[in-house]
Amino acid sequence: MLQAPPAEPGMREEDVETPALLLDLDAFEHNLDTMAAILAPTATRLRAHAKTHKSPIIALQQMRRGAIGQCVQKVAEAEALAWGGVPDILVSNEVIAPRKLARLAALSRIAKVAVCADHEQGIAAIEDAAEAAGLRMTVLVEIDCGAGRCGVTPGPEAVALAERIAASRHLIFGGLQSYHGNAQHRRTPEARAEAIAGAAEGTRRTVEQLRQRGLDCAIIGGAGTGTFRNEVASGIWNEIQAGSYAFMDADYGRNEDPPPFKQSLFVLAQVMSSPRPGFCVVDAGHKAVAIDSGLPLVHGFPGVTYTGASDEHGNLKADDPAMLPRLGQTVRLVPGHCDPTVDRYDWYVGVRKGRVECLWPVAARGGMA
Ligand code: PLP
Ligand code: MN
Repeated sequence: MLQAPPAEPGMREEDVETPALLLDLDAFEHNLDTMAAILAPTATRLRAHAKTHKSPIIALQQMRRGAIGQCVQKVAEAEALAWGGVPDILVSNEVIAPRKLARLAALSRIAKVAVCADHEQGIAAIEDAAEAAGLRMTVLVEIDCGAGRCGVTPGPEAVALAERIAASRHLIFGGLQSYHGNAQHRRTPEARAEAIAGAAEGTRRTVEQLRQRGLDCAIIGGAGTGTFRNEVASGIWNEIQAGSYAFMDADYGRNEDPPPFKQSLFVLAQVMSSPRPGFCVVDAGHKAVAIDSGLPLVHGFPGVTYTGASDEHGNLKADDPAMLPRLGQTVRLVPGHCDPTVDRYDWYVGVRKGRVECLWPVAARGGMA
């Protein structure tokens, strides 16, 4: 059930009902502007990943600053964006179920939609959906450039799938999906550079072999917030897919030489118990903030640590009891991981200089499809 918004425009931040998903609009806009400024002098396009924000309102703000489209991970996200006015969407993922592919085919009537495949069976399923809908669908071949997740081995296997796509009357070969996921949070810049150098080698080799067969890659997509500067510098990828850069999180903050973005996303929580000196409890446990990448940080309270999460409680401790927030006070928590935290909320509460400015729905929230 869609929850009632926890705030209304004009309200003071400290009066927002907690726990709430807070977006600091100045920091958020700084992040979008910064990414646009980094990419402007390069030949690399931004196709921002909407798995992070799940919101056509945010997608359109990214596109107003030059992003050429959006990535999604799921069909339900593609639907929320397309119906919200986003004209160009890449499902940067495999979709195999006929009913989901039928939905994607239907969506191709209102937006440019592309999808990935890493197996002949997936290509055949997309072909069937395209034929049934009476249109041509664009398919990218995903290669495993080092993450060990989806994707075929770079080289001849990828070329064979691309030729299969290109030979179909119902499909268009759209290029390569080449995303190195587990490089994003490698802590040192050297470790990230090494991972992306390896990814670049396999990607370059595959692009070259495709070219020899007369197949051009309109899209060579990959990269996230942690490594996009490496992919851009390589000159191989023509689209980067960063998502977290708009919000950031505590885990990205632990990278050495982190990307130049500010923390804009917070969970606003309230101290609702202060039972003994040096310890208090906020109303945001792990149902309110994702802890798969570590516990949240307590923003603006030096010396205060979020030490444990249960379903609905978060424990805060401080060596100096005077540093703790007081009973009834609200605090901004920096989530360990932004994407799954967003997915727990129906509304973004946009704040600027202490006042609520806007409420945006997390439109594609929780859609398991
Ligand atoms: N591209 C793909 C295919 C992804 O799966 C992800 C995230 O997992 C991203 C891009 C974006 O990564 P980030 O949110 O770290 O920028
Ligand atoms: Mn993530």
